[in-house]
Amino acid sequence: MRIAIAHNTNEETLKVVAHLKKILATKEGVVFDAKYPDVVITVGGDGTLINAFHRYEKQISSIRFIGIHTGHLGFYTDWQGQDVDKMVDALFLREPESAKYPLLEVELTTESNERKHYLALNESAVKRVSHTLEANVYIDGKLFENFRGDGLCVSTPTGSTAYNKSIGGAVIHPKLKALQMTEIASINNRVFRTLSSPIVIAPDQWITIVPNSDHFVMTVDGNRINLHNAKKIDFRISNKEIRFDRFGHTHFWSRVQSAFIGDKHDTI
Ligand code: NAP
Repeated sequence: MRIAIAHNTNEETLKVVAHLKKILATKEGVVFDAKYPDVVITVGGDGTLINAFHRYEKQISSIRFIGIHTGHLGFYTDWQGQDVDKMVDALFLREPESAKYPLLEVELTTESNERKHYLALNESAVKRVSHTLEANVYIDGKLFENFRGDGLCVSTPTGSTAYNKSIGGAVIHPKLKALQMTEIASINNRVFRTLSSPIVIAPDQWITIVPNSDHFVMTVDGNRINLHNAKKIDFRISNKEIRFDRFGHTHFWSRVQSAFIGDKHDTI
């Protein structure tokens, strides 16, 4: 098994990484291979996993991820630093359950009809830093609305708890193969009118944003993409997925509760 470890540089993380390397080295058949791994173990937070995802996105169909969190329980990170021994045992003794989640494919078309593709784990947003963004929004190629405001965000189900949630989007269970578009501070008056609520589109549908303003920016998982002569941006569910090795992972709604409400222990 070829394993890569991706991590942040927190003191606690570095301790966990040192221990993880030590116990993995005792396992027969383990090769540390940061270039072509079968399994990528991340140690840190969700941000660490997102960075690892982008590092290995070209090999995404042949990689499984395992996330260890050294801060708070994350949405992509199941294991706690103290459970590393259990995690390694589970990796070698049991056939792990595999969880696959949808990814967002972003296709940018330039004025000269050149196409560029990006893959997002959380979301992609189109915004203007100063002044408002004017854009036409199409669903399946049909004009849906004329937007004016700070921007628009299209997120995956796993990304629904990230930026999407902060701008009023719904939290979507990651088993649902759907994309959500959320408005960022839209202007709604007699002149400009949008739906004003997030929309969730079906797996075979796509959203197109045609910006009518210059100087807008596009982000993919928080990273700014350099845009030159962008004509339109299409958002659809990718035919690629991210795969996690899971060993009895935390229930999704318990994770949501723990992250945003606080743990409550009661059942009906
Ligand atoms: P970052 O520092 O890596 O992440 C910002 C925060 O978002 C961190 O607390 C991170 O958790 C959390 N996060 C990331 N993915 C999440 C998910 N799927 N569900 C819930 N929380 C999540 O920031 P970045 O490098 O600029 O951008 C990475 C991502 O962070 C973006 O894709 C965006 O969704 C999110 N973000 C959100 C806001 C906002 O809500 N206003 C602002 C900036 C970025 P960890 O602490 O576990 O890493």
